[in-house]
Amino acid sequence: MVEYTSCNCIICKQINNRYDCNSRFVVYKFTCKACNEYYIGETCIAIKDRIKQHTNSINKKDTKSALSNHLLLEHAESNYDISNFKLDIISKHKDSLDTALSEAFAIQKYKPSLNRKFELSLYNLYNQSYN
Ligand SMILES: [Zn+2]
Ligand SMILES: [Zn+2]
Repeated sequence: MVEYTSCNCIICKQINNRYDCNSRFVVYKFTCKACNEYYIGETCIAIKDRIKQHTNSINKKDTKSALSNHLLLEHAESNYDISNFKLDIISKHKDSLDTALSEAFAIQKYKPSLNRKFELSLYNLYNQSYN
């Protein structure tokens, strides 16, 4: 489904035309521009609001946040900013369960180095409960 948007914000500019900053139920990827390592996440709220949450964690230097933690450990001197990550939207879904499952599959498939280990094991959890 193509969502028409006239929005021209910084988020809309970097993602595929099929999505916009209000897209929700999406699986997304944040790639570190400095080292190409990446993080996969999902959101049931508008992607722009999810990015605001990531930005707040980074500004607070929250070590529980994977993105913030990566910047603190690897790029604290140079690129300590959300703009150090390039955003891509991988897929869009119809509801929160579908979105969560797709994120788990994407994490299992790509094994993104910035995701935490407990997220990787979510895939096994889903597998067990659906078999
Ligand atoms: Zn926008
Ligand atoms: Zn990096």
